[in-house]
Amino acid sequence: MIYDVVIVGAGSMGMAAGYYLAKAGKNVLMLDAFNPPHEEGSHHGDTRIIRFAYGEGASYVPFVKRAGQLWRELEAETNDSLFLQTGVMNVGETNHTFLQNVRESANLYNLPLEQYTAAEAMEKWPGLTLPEEMVVCFEPTAGVLRVEACIHAYKKLALAQGALLHTHEKVHTIQAQEIIQIHTEKGVYETKQLIVTAGAWASELLQTMDLSLPITPTRKTFAWFEADDCLYRDAIFPAYCFEFANSSYYGFPSIDGAGLKLGRHDGGEAINPNEPLRPFDEQDGAELQHFINRFMPQHGVLSFGKTCKYSVTPDEHFIIDFLPNHQNIVIAAGFSGHGFKFSSAVGEVLSDLILYGESKQDLSLFQLSRFA
Ligand SMILES: Cc1cc2nc3c(=O)[nH]c(=O)nc-3n(C[C@H](O)[C@H](O)[C@H](O)COP(=O)(O)OP(=O)(O)OC[C@H]3O[C@@H](n4cnc5c(N)ncnc54)[C@H](O)[C@@H]3O)c2cc1C
Repeated sequence: MIYDVVIVGAGSMGMAAGYYLAKAGKNVLMLDAFNPPHEEGSHHGDTRIIRFAYGEGASYVPFVKRAGQLWRELEAETNDSLFLQTGVMNVGETNHTFLQNVRESANLYNLPLEQYTAAEAMEKWPGLTLPEEMVVCFEPTAGVLRVEACIHAYKKLALAQGALLHTHEKVHTIQAQEIIQIHTEKGVYETKQLIVTAGAWASELLQTMDLSLPITPTRKTFAWFEADDCLYRDAIFPAYCFEFANSSYYGFPSIDGAGLKLGRHDGGEAINPNEPLRPFDEQDGAELQHFINRFMPQHGVLSFGKTCKYSVTPDEHFIIDFLPNHQNIVIAAGFSGHGFKFSSAVGEVLSDLILYGESKQDLSLFQLSRFA
């Protein structure tokens, strides 16, 4: 049989796209090397931040606002708790580009944003310690997505709409032609249209179609620290992004008593996504410990750490585009460690590109041609 659409990679982006396309009546097959949600890619670890006053640039705001609406709709449709409105504090020196972008995004799109000096912030959040030169831009309507629950929710709805999901079936070659052929270790599938949402494996897979993408799969680490819930529970302490001249950290309040979660956003070592990640080690712990001792000094001991994968582009903007010379193949990749919050809207965009050849979202920032 020939499918209407095959989706290679049913993780954050692919599962959402599968839902919107199946809902639109398409005959959809999703193929995944594992069984999403799983711990091999970029979407595990309980939580992801969603913020609307966007530090990476105001041009993301309409897209993330649409994502926020779609998360609310998904919650209503499934009755699952997916979003926690903890608020998010953006912390740094006042003239840091990220903080300037946060303020610009809020001004341009009329988003609520509260600004605090270090002293005011420490009074509002007694678990926080800040040097005098740092300020806080607090976005009260931002918060946290329960990442695996979000993927489960899209999976449940996609399957209910008739999409097929083949798990533990890795695609090794794609032959791009009018009817596209997809080769896995178990067989060959034919489809009229294809979406490639393979996360950290995107560039290796696209090489089978002679497309070389500048995406670097990168090892990332994060950890949970014991926390006094009187200071750090999610009802009273927000999620946070700290921006320094040469580093940035993000983290979460103690949700369901899990403790403070913390990760470093910049850096990380380039990896081969097919090899097991070096486990979280002492050096990883020490780096996070240094940060948390300084800014949330009333935390308890490090409970445990984990590893995960980013897929990083040179400018850290996403890739969402048609494959050059192939109007029947769409790629969404290179989410550079800040993509999950968008995945509901990316699913909708991918569905629109397949159905109509265009999207209502402005995708100019995400074009492949910028790397030409
Ligand atoms: C530690 C960490 C913290 C993060 N924090 C945030 C945050 O706070 N906010 C935020 O917005 N974003 C955050 N992100 C980024 C976000 O999680 C990612 O951008 C997003 O999950 C990427 O989605 P994806 O669909 O590209 O990849 P994935 O969700 O990994 O999906 C890719 C899928 O493709 C499958 N696959 C790959 N190759 C093949 C193949 N050949 N055949 C079949 N299947 C294949 C994989 O098995 C996988 O299921 C974070 C990421 C990490 C790692």
